[in-house]
Amino acid sequence: MVQSITETERLNRIKNEEEIVWINPQLEKVEKANQKSTYSLEDVQDVEDRFHRFAAYFEVAFPETKQYKGLLESEITKLNNMHDWLEDQYDMKLPGDFYIKRDDLLPISGTIKSRGAIYEVLKYAETLALEHGMLKNIHESYEKFASEEFRIFFSEFNLMVGTTGNLGISVGAMGRALGFQVTVHVSVDAKQWKKEYLRSRGVEVVEHVTNFSKAVELGRAASEADPKSYFVDDEYSEELFLGYTVGGLRMKRQLEEENIKVDADHPLFVYLPCGIGGSPSGITFGLKHAFGDNVHCIFAEPTKMPSMLIGLDTELYDGISVEDIGLGGLTVADGLAVPRTSALVAKIMRNCFSGSYTLKDDTFKALLTNLYQQEEIFLEPAAVAGLPGPFKLMGSEEGQAYLKEHNLVDKLEHATHIAWGTGGSMVPDADKEAFILEGMGKSIDKA
Ligand SMILES: *Cc1c(COP(=O)(O)O)cnc(C)c1O
Repeated sequence: MVQSITETERLNRIKNEEEIVWINPQLEKVEKANQKSTYSLEDVQDVEDRFHRFAAYFEVAFPETKQYKGLLESEITKLNNMHDWLEDQYDMKLPGDFYIKRDDLLPISGTIKSRGAIYEVLKYAETLALEHGMLKNIHESYEKFASEEFRIFFSEFNLMVGTTGNLGISVGAMGRALGFQVTVHVSVDAKQWKKEYLRSRGVEVVEHVTNFSKAVELGRAASEADPKSYFVDDEYSEELFLGYTVGGLRMKRQLEEENIKVDADHPLFVYLPCGIGGSPSGITFGLKHAFGDNVHCIFAEPTKMPSMLIGLDTELYDGISVEDIGLGGLTVADGLAVPRTSALVAKIMRNCFSGSYTLKDDTFKALLTNLYQQEEIFLEPAAVAGLPGPFKLMGSEEGQAYLKEHNLVDKLEHATHIAWGTGGSMVPDADKEAFILEGMGKSIDKA
């Protein structure tokens, strides 16, 4: 089954859980990739329009969204100390500027999932409200969604989801705020505090002793058996993917506001933590529409669960699981603990993203602790995966070949690197402290 990983040496390194860099041979120019895509800028615009319709609701129900006029958005922060620390660790100079995108601060769920999951819940809520005459048309004020009348209406319906934790938190928090019943099927990876948080919000948590793929399967079956239930499906959901895309598209405006130039002489590199692939792929899709071939998107996965990497490298997509090559143990990066990628997103992404790299658990731990010490930014383990991206790209033969092939070597002085920080602000203090302590004795892998 895996013979199609042509370079067996790479396969051996993947099986040995070594950190590797992989460049996507199927990357194409944006224009060509877009022609092949099922989705277009119109789909992204449709998402943007729907989020704008709900802005009036968010400003009332979640006043913390007022600073972004009711949109779920996050800032970017320049990394200085962490930049120096990483240079030191990797023994390498990093030309250009280095930022972190703060999706750990997104309202409602404190993770990147706020974008996709919440979008899917909103779209479902809007559809129900229109179908049942609660909303006459889409031009009415959506402030109504915060009313008791709407909450009573939605309490007749059930949302279900299978998750390692964060998708459940996003669907749970949004769903409950609107009044839905919510059932969350969690895999063995789910952290205790995530389960407790959900239960405290009145979410029904069904615990499985199985991995993520299996938890999704069980959740899907339970939902299908209930006619008033809607399943948010991380493996196949178009809405989830599309919800994430605006995060990428909106970077155009955000970087302009920060006076950060992106053009042929000022390349942009974005490093995105990847689990099933929905969030990095959606963001990449939006970024490509915003910046075309001048943006280079690179995904990061745990060495224990490189599901997108092996799905694309073998071109088997969701036809291969990390278990098929002897991997799949628990990883500290619980948000990325996905054994099998999503075929929907992997097939869209194959012509869009530049490549990926993997990180060992100790690297995640060391990054988490040092980011906190250097910048006073706490991210959850999965969320730090983008930080070593520039060093992985420049410090590897594979990455160097990519930079040469795309004529980027002499442009690196004017490059901008953004590590997408995907979550962390909701982690309880006791867990934060435990994570910070855990990474103290750990070092990043420099091999
Ligand atoms: C889910 C998650 C990701 C990855 O998103 P996928 O859609 O699963 O690829 C990254 N970081 C955090 C914190 C997450 O919860």
